[in-house]
Amino acid sequence: SAAIRQDILDLIAHLPEEVQKVLEAVRDTAEEEQCSVYVVGGFVRDLLLSVPTQDLDFVVEGSGGQFAQALMKRMPNGKLTQHITFGTAQIIFPDGSHLDIASTRWEHYSFPGALPQVEESCLRDDLFRRDFTINSMAICLNTDRFGELVDYYGGKQDLQQGKIRFLHNISFIDDPTRMIRAIRFAERYYFSFAKETLDALYTAIETGVLGKLSVERFSEEMLLILKENNYLAMGQTLVKCGLLNAWFGKELAWNFNLDDAEESVNWSLNIRWLSSVSRMDSAEIESLLERVCLNKSLRDETIHYIHLRESLKESLSLSEMDRLLTKAPKEVVFVLARDESYKHKISECLKAAQRINMSLDGKALIKMGVKQGPEIGKILDRVRMAWLEGKISTTEEEQLMARKWVKAQR
Ligand code: ATP
Repeated sequence: SAAIRQDILDLIAHLPEEVQKVLEAVRDTAEEEQCSVYVVGGFVRDLLLSVPTQDLDFVVEGSGGQFAQALMKRMPNGKLTQHITFGTAQIIFPDGSHLDIASTRWEHYSFPGALPQVEESCLRDDLFRRDFTINSMAICLNTDRFGELVDYYGGKQDLQQGKIRFLHNISFIDDPTRMIRAIRFAERYYFSFAKETLDALYTAIETGVLGKLSVERFSEEMLLILKENNYLAMGQTLVKCGLLNAWFGKELAWNFNLDDAEESVNWSLNIRWLSSVSRMDSAEIESLLERVCLNKSLRDETIHYIHLRESLKESLSLSEMDRLLTKAPKEVVFVLARDESYKHKISECLKAAQRINMSLDGKALIKMGVKQGPEIGKILDRVRMAWLEGKISTTEEEQLMARKWVKAQR
């Protein structure tokens, strides 16, 4: 209706200027190309919720590729990538943000000759293939319809009522990642599930739908969860509804502790992940690594975490501890230092390490007459240990001790 369109125009007018410029460029390109174009999905949802959104998805009634090429004339900073077989294109900007452009139909056709019903049914199908009603809305960007909401499936009402609702009841069977997405959106916006959607979620888990899902797609969705501010609540829900246990084939001691909520907002992805597995024993974490596909840094840190935790169970000297802690990635140390069992040991060692105030380095030792080679590292190591153990506490003592060792070596 006209009122909704006016509301949307007002919301658009409050968007950052760069976003408005993009929408206008898309509008003008649609005029030139004589085709209909819509902004769809997450952008529309977040616009109506008045929350900031990042990426823009467009659907073109016509050739997405051709449209993207034409749009590039107005995007001097953009870089165009086309995926011909999928009928999609992407324009990427230097800051990493991007525009996605898809066709509701892949072959090119010229707009004036097309029947309007055909066009409408195309957009309708495109929106019907989406995950939830709140993500199935489009806003037309053509000049004469700019700001017009297309909402075939009741998305606006579900947004107002705070409901996550699928578009049809085999949605989770078609694509099990939607179960994880549903929980992500529900906890992100503090929404609840429509009854049939919740029932279908439980049925899908019970009937083993996750078996259809690849490790890669499951992992992608889990990583998206870990990037959310509210990931702890999402993790808890994933555990409670049985999804994580179903995926891993056993009950695991996940640590999604809401007490960490405030602090965890500033945690990196790696810290969030390591902390989430910190209640599991090493064998469990190892078996878990077979069911998730992590990038190299995350995988290596997880393995480092297991090893370091095992080592800390032993009784270690201060210098042995220091060696292990200085070698370990800082995320690994951070997570272990929050663990009751290792907290004291680690803080004792870190406190001792604060005493270290080394003035010597390799160059200084060479000046003292040490030959270049492994000896230098060894002496520096000994000096560090002497600081750590409190055997020296001033630069003068440090120099004196180093001279003594250098002399002894000659
Ligand atoms: P976010 O704010 O997390 O980026 P988004 O809605 O923009 O959310 P994307 O993953 O970028 O999420 O997906 C863009 C759109 O594509 C969604 O709004 C939805 O319409 C559709 N979509 C994404 N994943 C699926 C899926 N698994 N099944 C159906 N539709 C999907």
